[in-house]
Amino acid sequence: MPAKLHLPRRYAWLLALIASASLVAGVYQVAAQRAKAELLARAQQQLQLMAPELESALEKFETLPFVIGFQENVAEALADPTRGAPIARVNRMLKTIQQQSKVGAIYLMDRDGKTIAASNWDLPLTFVGRNFGYRPYFREALAGGAGRFYGIGSTTSEPGYFIAQPVRAGGAVVGVIAVKISLDEFERNWQGSEDTIVLADRAAVVFLSNRPGWKYRSLRRLSPVTERELASTLQYARQPIAWLDDAAAPHAVRQVGRLGWELQLYPASQRAARNAALWTLAAALVLASGVVAAWAVHQRRRRLEEQFAARTALQAAARELDERLVERTALLRQANHELEAKYATLKQTEHALRSTQDELVQAGKLAMLGQMAAGVTHELNQPLAAIRAFADNAITFLARGQAEKASANLLHIGDASARMGAIIAQLKGFARRSGSMALIDLAQSMRASAFLLDSEFRRLGAVLTISDARHSPTPLMVAGDAVRIEQVFINLLRNALDAVETAPLRTVSVTLEQDGVHAVVRIADTGPGMPGEVEAHLFEPFFTTKPSGKGLGLGLAISSSIVQAMNGQLTGSNRPVGGAQFEVRLPLADKGH
Ligand code: ADP
Repeated sequence: MPAKLHLPRRYAWLLALIASASLVAGVYQVAAQRAKAELLARAQQQLQLMAPELESALEKFETLPFVIGFQENVAEALADPTRGAPIARVNRMLKTIQQQSKVGAIYLMDRDGKTIAASNWDLPLTFVGRNFGYRPYFREALAGGAGRFYGIGSTTSEPGYFIAQPVRAGGAVVGVIAVKISLDEFERNWQGSEDTIVLADRAAVVFLSNRPGWKYRSLRRLSPVTERELASTLQYARQPIAWLDDAAAPHAVRQVGRLGWELQLYPASQRAARNAALWTLAAALVLASGVVAAWAVHQRRRRLEEQFAARTALQAAARELDERLVERTALLRQANHELEAKYATLKQTEHALRSTQDELVQAGKLAMLGQMAAGVTHELNQPLAAIRAFADNAITFLARGQAEKASANLLHIGDASARMGAIIAQLKGFARRSGSMALIDLAQSMRASAFLLDSEFRRLGAVLTISDARHSPTPLMVAGDAVRIEQVFINLLRNALDAVETAPLRTVSVTLEQDGVHAVVRIADTGPGMPGEVEAHLFEPFFTTKPSGKGLGLGLAISSSIVQAMNGQLTGSNRPVGGAQFEVRLPLADKGH
């Protein structure tokens, strides 16, 4: 069950994946925490550098209004503000000092808070004539102390830091000198920072920041008292002060100046995220390389295991092969022995069969000789009787002196003896044991066989026809033993002759044909044909329906074995028109034979 085998492994991978994911997540958490803490610490350090700078800028002009308050023409102007010349002098002086000290504005107010002289006396938005009696710095200075304040100018709408000092005459406060300082430069310096930097007042209202959206917002919820105070002093003109909840983010804080201000730095959150991401990436890389290394080790081990397994399997297979080879070799050897034994037996059997066949052939021939004896005797007797008669007559003719008649008779004697010689020659050839292989013309062989039975045919009044169905001048040639082929033909012709002996029509027809690479000799007769049980046993040795002395039942058996030995076939059947028909089928001799 492969599914069951794979399941734990898949779980292991899943577990490893979850473990790595939580590890990476954990690293991210810790790294983010640490990055935040580090950034906060850095922010604190940064504030430590920034705060003194800001404080020194605020402090730098602390004494300026104080010093101006001691100028004689200031007291002179305050003494009678309706006189133009002293006011003009103060105006010029304040302008000169303002330009030299690079502050926003310097101006002089009477006890009611009305501005009677100012450095910007000649500008469209001059403070001259305006009353700042409602501003806290004025009231503080009037009370005899220094007044400090940050707010949006009611005339210029520009924010600034105000420092005010009383002007005394004979111990009494007769007016107030105020200096307005712009803090815009700080704001501009912070612009480049990625972190959010704010300067907030005592009430936690942001009035300087490098993030425009943070300005004039409160970092804490404002109390009603504070709200009323802001409205009365017009500190931030009439701007609505909304609560800023971004300020909940961790940040560094430092007290600055004399007004309870707070300089705050909010480290850019993306910086912490970036730091944490870097750490996480490093951790992930370490983890990944660990995994890759583990995987490589695992793969290597597996490959080694596979190699080992393959080697052992190969060795086992080789061993098994060896064993099987030995086993098979033994079996083969045994089979070989058995085959050899069988072959030897077969050889013996074949030898026995061959000698049996030879004997059979010989026996068949002898039997046929016996059968032919009567015919042959008759054949030889006739010419012999004729020779005797011709000889007797020749003697008589010679005695009468009829030489011509005598010589005619002697010629007849010669003919008759020649015929006898031919018969004897045929018989000699027939009695011979099997001869050598030769090229045989089947038509010629058939004619020679018919010749031997000629007298028999004539005696029984039977007709023998031999025809070549091919109508070709080239003879049908086969390779074989001439004597044996004639033996086959004589057998078949004799059987046909026997069959027609008692038939009303006594005809035996021999046809020569070619069928592909075979020569076919067909011997058909007009006899009674063969009953079914005879047809089934035709080629069995010693099967005969003929009376003893006439047939041995060997003819067809021998003929068939002769034809088979020549790679041919002998078949017998009944003809549809009546009578039997035997067919000898022999392979044609090759052209080069
Ligand atoms: P035998 O001629 O000595 O009997 P054969 O082997 O030549 O032996 O023939 C076996 C038998 O086959 C014959 O006895 C005969 O019954 C049958 N036979 C052979 N040729 C013919 C034929 N042309 N017509 C009818 N029967 C035949």
